[in-house]
Amino acid sequence: MMTTAQRRVSGLLRGNGLKVTRGRAEVLNLFLDAGRPLAQRQIMEMLRLKLDRASVYRILNAFVEAGIIHMAYVDVRHRVYELPDKCGGQKCHPHFSCRGCGKTTCLEDFRVYFKGALAKGFVAERQKVLIEGLCPDCRR
Ligand SMILES: [Zn+2]
Ligand SMILES: [Zn+2]
Repeated sequence: MMTTAQRRVSGLLRGNGLKVTRGRAEVLNLFLDAGRPLAQRQIMEMLRLKLDRASVYRILNAFVEAGIIHMAYVDVRHRVYELPDKCGGQKCHPHFSCRGCGKTTCLEDFRVYFKGALAKGFVAERQKVLIEGLCPDCRR
């Protein structure tokens, strides 16, 4: 018997042209449960299945190619991915990254206004804003 969550996961995978494997289902479930962007490092810590880094990397790449997730941003230390329920890979809301716990928070209501224009000849393809600091839990 499949639970609603399992049905949702296999539906998402099949609907995007991916075969359902235990590893893929597990990683996708983590994203759906977390409701926030996840770095590969965090995924490794949350996994209940035994998957090595290379397998998780392959799963994330397959998800990106299929459009199930996109890269929210890359910082010096890690790549952070998220589901497209709130934004897309080309135009994403700003993110807050906590330097204490490493959690990423989506800042959907936070607007950044740019002034001026790009220099002549430049074409913008992506806009990503990352704010770093401490979350309420880590400030205590
Ligand atoms: Zn924190
Ligand atoms: Zn986000």
